[in-house]
Amino acid sequence: MNLDDQADQDQALTVPCPFPPHGCAQPAGAPCVRVSDGQPLDRAPAHIARLKAAGVVHAPLDPRELARAHERTPRR
Ligand SMILES: [Zn+2]
Repeated sequence: MNLDDQADQDQALTVPCPFPPHGCAQPAGAPCVRVSDGQPLDRAPAHIARLKAAGVVHAPLDPRELARAHERTPRR
């Protein structure tokens, strides 16, 4: 998890996660878990629907995430 993910997760935790199938229904303050087995998410800071609900603009499915960090062009 990188610093952007941490910031996104912090923001996501300010709202509850939506109920399945869009989320895991965790309350505000509790990190998202996989609905299938209850384990923490390992590839995203929170469910997409929760990130949207919290107003996180930097979504983890942004195509820029597919590039490695050193390949990104800094935005100024
Ligand atoms: Zn969730």
